[in-house]
Amino acid sequence: MLLISCPWCGEREETEFHYGGQALVAYPANPDALSDEEWAQYLFFRDNPKGDFAERWVHTAGCRRWFNTVRNTVTSEFTS
Ligand SMILES: [Zn+2]
Repeated sequence: MLLISCPWCGEREETEFHYGGQALVAYPANPDALSDEEWAQYLFFRDNPKGDFAERWVHTAGCRRWFNTVRNTVTSEFTS
């Protein structure tokens, strides 16, 4: 069982959380200027690194708050 540390509730089981995808994806500065291909890139394409990866998680069965964290995609260890 993977344990995830919620910043507000402390360490809880993985089943209390939902994954929210890559963190720190910046909204386009000038969205009206984007082509369809650039919009698709923003909406659907995310990094898929082997190693540390900034992610968003929500504590759905607890405080229901979102937070960013860094998880190693090889070991599933949360490093930050
Ligand atoms: Zn929580």
